[in-house]
Amino acid sequence: MSLTRPVGILGGTFDPVHNGHLRLAIELVDQLGLAEMRLIPSARPPHRGEPAASPGQRAKWLRVAIAEQPGLRLDDRELLRDGPSYSVDTLVGLRAELPDTPLCLVMGMDVFAGLPDWHEWQRLFDYAHILLVARPGTDEALPAAAQAVLDARLQPHAAALGQSLAGAIVRCEPPPLAISASRIRSLLAAGRSPRFLLPDVVLADILDADVYRQQQPADCA
Ligand code: ATP
Repeated sequence: MSLTRPVGILGGTFDPVHNGHLRLAIELVDQLGLAEMRLIPSARPPHRGEPAASPGQRAKWLRVAIAEQPGLRLDDRELLRDGPSYSVDTLVGLRAELPDTPLCLVMGMDVFAGLPDWHEWQRLFDYAHILLVARPGTDEALPAAAQAVLDARLQPHAAALGQSLAGAIVRCEPPPLAISASRIRSLLAAGRSPRFLLPDVVLADILDADVYRQQQPADCA
C-alpha cells in the first residue's frame, strides 16, 4: 500500500487556544512535512474538569485563530458526539476517512505522562503514531508506566512516521514556548492582561464575552 503524507492531530481543551498550541502546530507541520494538522477540541475531556468556556466558544476561537493559516484545520468531530470525548473514538473515525494516511497524535509530555490511565489507551497505537513534544515546565522524568510505553515504541527517526500507518512514538523538539491556557485564565481572573500569549482576535472576544472573569484566581507566578 502506498501511503500519503502523514496528518497531525492536536487534541486538547483549548480553553482558550493560545500561541503555544499554534506555534507548536505550525512547527510540526513544517519540520515533519505533514499534510496538515487537525486541531480537535474536546467536548467533555474525560481526564479533567469541565472547561470554563463552552464548546462553541472554544471552537470559535480556534476558527478565528487559524483563519487563513495554511496547514492548520479545525476538526469539530468531538463537539458533535455525545458522551465523553475519547481519543480512540476520534481515531477510529479519522482512520475510516483516511485509510492510507499515517495519523500522528501530538502529545505534550504532561499529557503523555497520564496516557496509561486513558480509556482503551493501547488501541490508540492501532490507529496512530504518537508525536511526543517537550513542554516547558514539565518534568522530563515520566511515571514508570508511561516510561515503559515509551521504551517499547520509541523510534529514533521522524521518518518512521511516514513508513507505517500507526504504532510508533517519535520525539520532536520544536522551539519551546512556556504558555498554558491555565495561566491565561489565571491572569484574566486576576484582572491582568494575557496579551501576546494568544492571538489578539481571540483575546478581544474573551474580553467581550467576559468568559474567565468569574473564575477564582489560581496560584500563578
Ligand atoms: P491547561 O493549562 O488548561 O491545562 P493547556 O495549555 O495544556 O491547557 P490543552 O488544550 O490542554 O492546553 O493542550 C492540548 C495539547 O497541547 C496537549 O498535548 C498539551 O501538552 C499541548 N500543549 C499545550 N501548550 C503547549 C506548549 N506551550 N508547548 C507544548 N505543548 C503544548
